[in-house]
Amino acid sequence: MLGKVVIANRGEIALRILRACREMGIKTVAVHSTADNNLKHVLLADETVCIGPPQSADSYLNMPAIISAAEVTDAVAIHPGYGFLSENADFAERVVTSGFIFIGPPASAIREMGDKVAAIRAMKAAGVPTVPGSDGPLSDNAEENLRIGRDIGYPVIIKAAGGGGGRGMRVVHSEASLIAAISVTQAEARSAFGNETVYMEKFLEKPRHIEFQVLADNHGNAIHLGERDCSMQRRHQKVVEEAPAPGITEEQRNRIGERCVRACQKMGYRSAGTFEFLYQDGEFYFIEMNTRLQVEHPVTEMITNVDIVREQLRIAAGEKLSLSQDQVKLTGHAIECRINAEDPKTFMPSPGLVHLWHPPGGPGIRVESHIYSGYRVPPYYDSMIGKIIAHGNDRPTAIARMRNALSEVVIEGIKTNVPLHQEIFQHSAFQAGGTDIHYLEKRLGL
Ligand code: ADP
Repeated sequence: MLGKVVIANRGEIALRILRACREMGIKTVAVHSTADNNLKHVLLADETVCIGPPQSADSYLNMPAIISAAEVTDAVAIHPGYGFLSENADFAERVVTSGFIFIGPPASAIREMGDKVAAIRAMKAAGVPTVPGSDGPLSDNAEENLRIGRDIGYPVIIKAAGGGGGRGMRVVHSEASLIAAISVTQAEARSAFGNETVYMEKFLEKPRHIEFQVLADNHGNAIHLGERDCSMQRRHQKVVEEAPAPGITEEQRNRIGERCVRACQKMGYRSAGTFEFLYQDGEFYFIEMNTRLQVEHPVTEMITNVDIVREQLRIAAGEKLSLSQDQVKLTGHAIECRINAEDPKTFMPSPGLVHLWHPPGGPGIRVESHIYSGYRVPPYYDSMIGKIIAHGNDRPTAIARMRNALSEVVIEGIKTNVPLHQEIFQHSAFQAGGTDIHYLEKRLGL
């Protein structure tokens, strides 16, 4: 097993990784900014290294500082968590060339999936269904682009190959505005991502967001752990996630899951990963792959009984996956609410001192959070302060348990989005399941 791991992240996910390491007898090094001396995992880690000032660019994104921390502590591996450097192929490469294990996929896979045009090409080759589109980058040939638009049918969406975080996209409703939209998106992509390559896809008007979790080891084994529905979003940010996705059949799960597994094997993927799809009218359309652990991984853990972080650590140590596809069994239903330090109406961040934190509990409730009474939420980072996960034998039970949990949780001193979650759980459309990605914003009148 790995001797000592550097956790190159903060907040709830750093604590999650620390817990998995401790369970497995792996020593931990918490690297942190000067604003994070009192983070829970920093207090619990075997060793700590301060890697810079509060601003992420100088600390959590500071590659030399993180790699030096691994050197001075004699660590063998670095876990990047999510966000920050987790999908940075150059970082993965530098970790490896510095003599450490990167707990994630090979840099080549991160790079390939980070280029959306290349990712779509790889998916097609593996038989993963993609959105009807331009089959590659758009050229400067206006006639050709108009023809592609006509073939796909309006509305279409122009997307930057190097885009991310919901940026670098433009919907085009008719042929008249296509050519102008392409050049504007190209110009934006050039300045935002340093890559002006754009491509065209059919714009799906009422899709759901459904994603598949995969795991792959160094021995050619890959499995999928079924899907999650993450359609409850605001500004492309997921708010509530659940597994399995309401209404998805076992046949669909097996068919799409197998294709994802095949894609992993073809690209030499390793570690945990997620294939994101839009789902509309019974069809799946691949949009992108996330080459890292995700915020919403616990809902999959709850219904499969697989510890995804533990698997990542085992895989990084060169071990085989601890189970095969036919040993993956889905039981019950799990839902996750992301708890953010923000005003539930205006969504303005609400950092500050947590006077009192009393987490919910009871059967089927799991809480992933780094906050504690007396903890001060710093203003520098993402506003997510934790996640509540409810598991039950069926979806109504998971919902009932989550409602209890939301009514029990006490977070005083800062504002949180708990009232927003309570409202969502009252909606009949949410209770019925299967709402599309625009549902929440429409419901909120945004
Ligand atoms: P990013 O890397 O920026 O997250 P994605 O390709 O995952 O980019 O797209 C982000 C979001 O944009 C999707 O979750 C979806 O809401 C919307 N979107 C992307 N492609 C399409 C499409 N072809 N039709 C409709 N919506 C789309």
